[in-house]
Amino acid sequence: MAKWVYSFGNGKAEGKAEMRNLLGGKGANLAEMSNLGLPVPPGFTVTTEVCTHYYANKREYPADLRAQVNAALGQVEKITGRKFGDPAKPLLVSVRSGARASMPGMMDTVLNLGLNDTTVEGLAAESGDPRFAYDSYRRFIQMYGDVVLEVDHHHFEELLEQAKSDRGVSLDTDMTADDWKALVAAYKAMVAKQLGRPFPQDPQEQLWGAVGAVFASWMNQRANTYRRLHQIPEEWGTAVNIQAMVFGNMGPDCATGVAFTRDPSTGENEFYGEFLINAQGEDVVAGIRTPQQLTILGKDRQKSKLPSMEEAMPETFAQLCDIRVKLERHYRDIQDIEFTVEKGKLYMLQTRNGKRTAAAALRIAVELAEEGLIDRKTAVGRIDPSSLDQLLHPTLDPKAAKSILTRGLPASPGAASGIVTFSADEAETLAGEGKAVILVRVETSPEDIHGMHAARGILTTRGGMTSHAAVVARGMGRACVAGAGEIRVDYAAKTMSVRGTVIKAGEAITIDGGTGDVFKGEVPTVQPELSGHFATIMEWADSFRRMKVRTNAETPLDARTARRFGAEGIGLCRTEHMFFDPSRITAVREMIVADDASQRAKALAKIQPFQRDDFAELFRIMDGLPVTIRLLDPPLHEFLPHSDADFAELSKATGKSLGELKARAEKLTEMNPMLGHRGCRLAVTYPEIYQMQARAIFEACAIVGKETGRKVEPEIMIPLVAMKRELDLMRDHIAKVAEEVRASSGVEISYMLGTMIELPRAALRASEIAETAEFFSFGTNDLTQTTFGLSRDDSAAFLGAYESQKILTRDPFVSMDIDGVGELVAIGTSRGRATRKNLKVGICGEHGGDPASIHFCERTGLDYVSCSPYRVPIARLAAAQAAIQAAPAKAAAKPTAKPSTERHNRVLISAGRRAAGSRVSAGRNFAAPTARPGKKKPAPKPVVKKTPVKKAAPAKKKAAPVKKAPAKKIAKKPAPKKKAPVKKPAKKLKKR
Ligand code: ADP
Ligand code: MG
Ligand code: MG
Repeated sequence: MAKWVYSFGNGKAEGKAEMRNLLGGKGANLAEMSNLGLPVPPGFTVTTEVCTHYYANKREYPADLRAQVNAALGQVEKITGRKFGDPAKPLLVSVRSGARASMPGMMDTVLNLGLNDTTVEGLAAESGDPRFAYDSYRRFIQMYGDVVLEVDHHHFEELLEQAKSDRGVSLDTDMTADDWKALVAAYKAMVAKQLGRPFPQDPQEQLWGAVGAVFASWMNQRANTYRRLHQIPEEWGTAVNIQAMVFGNMGPDCATGVAFTRDPSTGENEFYGEFLINAQGEDVVAGIRTPQQLTILGKDRQKSKLPSMEEAMPETFAQLCDIRVKLERHYRDIQDIEFTVEKGKLYMLQTRNGKRTAAAALRIAVELAEEGLIDRKTAVGRIDPSSLDQLLHPTLDPKAAKSILTRGLPASPGAASGIVTFSADEAETLAGEGKAVILVRVETSPEDIHGMHAARGILTTRGGMTSHAAVVARGMGRACVAGAGEIRVDYAAKTMSVRGTVIKAGEAITIDGGTGDVFKGEVPTVQPELSGHFATIMEWADSFRRMKVRTNAETPLDARTARRFGAEGIGLCRTEHMFFDPSRITAVREMIVADDASQRAKALAKIQPFQRDDFAELFRIMDGLPVTIRLLDPPLHEFLPHSDADFAELSKATGKSLGELKARAEKLTEMNPMLGHRGCRLAVTYPEIYQMQARAIFEACAIVGKETGRKVEPEIMIPLVAMKRELDLMRDHIAKVAEEVRASSGVEISYMLGTMIELPRAALRASEIAETAEFFSFGTNDLTQTTFGLSRDDSAAFLGAYESQKILTRDPFVSMDIDGVGELVAIGTSRGRATRKNLKVGICGEHGGDPASIHFCERTGLDYVSCSPYRVPIARLAAAQAAIQAAPAKAAAKPTAKPSTERHNRVLISAGRRAAGSRVSAGRNFAAPTARPGKKKPAPKPVVKKTPVKKAAPAKKKAAPVKKAPAKKIAKKPAPKKKAPVKKPAKKLKKR
């Protein structure tokens, strides 16, 4: 016979905390607390399997359920000495839903079930308190009427308000027994009228009605939506808890309350909570009366006039303090508890791991470890890496008044306010005058970089999470709200409008890039604090981490920020960003419109010193840490002039006519620039470009090497390689330049040459590409784009539909598509390493800062991840967690002998599958609580799945001879005259 019902009470239970899947979170913890000997009112849990059965069988219960429920109810009757439906000594119960993860949208709890016109009299007589009996009855009719019978709650509220105003009282506690009795009659009449049948009087009918309502609520609209958003499978089902009532509404020696064992917003080890005397259930959080603080400290901090529980009920409070300690010791984490006091006796009604802010999570993890309750690995594992974002940027002052204007995508975290400007140039000018500005654009382009840099925040009305604005803003650590589609921007009138509200240039707005909210006016912000517990957790994380964490940075500011956040080098320096500087763009344009190689060389010679100085500065900042420099990548037309003034300036610089220049610009336009003349293809046609860049790099090496007395060894990265021959050509060009610089500077030049793997062909042909490449860096933005054949600039328009129709669970540009793109990464890594055992492998796409993707990189054996500066701490933590999770896998993994391609692919495919499964575990989520956090919010318990993923073994047999890049090391020659480092020109020039 299947067991559908699990009892608890009297210091024991059939269930326990580990049976969460079967009993739901609430039921499992009620059982656990009973086993711990805590005072829990007796009851039983109807399992989630009953819910599953119910939906699998046309909403029929298992045949033997009723008998099991009656037996369990009988046990509760025995423990309490009361009987369900008994006219003299009635047993009342609560019916409480409880899924594995607490889920808003599920049925609300029904209290006092079992009351009817007869039992209420029994309760009144027995307690000697008719007021209490009728207060309980009116509560029951309202709750049951609302959540089970679905009579709209406003009907009840109107009658309650009416009754109170008729009596001239404002507080429920001022109502008398007769008042409640009259309200009960009014409620019943109203329900009968609404439903066309009387309120159910039979306790059995009440009970099964409530159980049915819990199961039905599993499939209601709200629950379905919530499940979809949080990827909770339908098959999980919910449990139902039925529990003997205890009463916090029996008089002044009764109370009900909620508490956290520590402060959930700061993490401070202080008991924190609220309670209400002579109240029941959710009164505390419902805002019916002002709750009282648990502790004297809390009372002082809240400047509350009402007595704390510590003062009002000292003995019960002492009991509660003991339980607080006991629960924390037992669960080894902060607990969120619910309790009731009946006539001075304390009862525990719920416990669960408490939700907490990121700051609190850090402090709690560190302090629990210091208290010896958890080890450091566990402490590191307790922090949701993504939540660190909350701490790395300014946030909105929670106390500030706000007026929300509209909402877009939370594209880059941080809150910022400033005056609105619609042009990048103006943003720069205003910022130069010391003003805080928000740059508002329909969308941004590389031309806006200077304005984006100057702005405090960026707001766009079009584009997704990987739009230009989003990616650049994240890189710069600027707050950004993207794709706020409700806003209409009128560049000509210099206004933006949202549903009738018009905001002119110069007026203030505030954006919250962490939520996507846009506010009118200036909302004050608070600055982040990165020391203390934050620093401790990062230090512990670093001790467990295997992969290195680098940053994507090209400006000195970003490089410095990244180092401050603990970056261990630069994984991607995008040299083209250096081209847009107003002081260089004309020279860049000259280069583009050049008629022949010699004209091109002339223009390039103008850019070269700028690039050299940029690189030198980066080398100085990174101080010996590795720096990967990617040579020019974007299609040339991105640098072309746009305005007439641009053309005029270029005409002056080149001596070419306007007509000639425009024709040239026209010719450079491509149908599909992403797949066009870009990356190494540029240097296949114009080798001078890469030669110039290589020269700038090597000269910078020489300069900084002389300054520091230490050799600078850059990693030169060739973008968009599909074929080995492309890379070979580039290698030869660069080697030639290295030789020339050695000859002219007398300094020994050494460097690594590698490639980005961002085309499927490159991943597949990795074994031959690795004959030339000394390192791979997976450019997963482009690799995602080219693997899916999906444009990241255009996909925002329809990716929503893909997510809602469950084709994709996450935006593949945000979190790596582990099954597909991931398989290419795994293939590329193992084939590359099969050729070159010590091939350095990293990732430098947006995914380098995404925790789920970082877990994948760890399992795949990458050497490092590289991400934008502000994500470095997130990546450090995620990489540590990934290493901790992967550790047992590695110990188990045995080196495999010789992989045939077929076997190899099998391993990879299964790796991909497992990886997909473990995404759940990576998304651990402790939402930020407010004063009483998460009352109706989820507390998804992370599913920690330790799935060892074997690395595909290197194809030893196939190992091709490793060919070294020629002319890599060149003998030292006497140094020529030392050149002082040229200072980088300030970004002052106006771009038009
Ligand atoms: P939620 O999931 O919304 O927290 P609960 O099932 O925990 O709902 O019920 C809410 C409140 O109802 C509890 O915090 C408690 O105050 C009260 N409650 C539930 N069951 C009982 C009971 N058996 N006796 C007294 N109060 C109860
Ligand atoms: Mg609760
Ligand atoms: Mg790319």
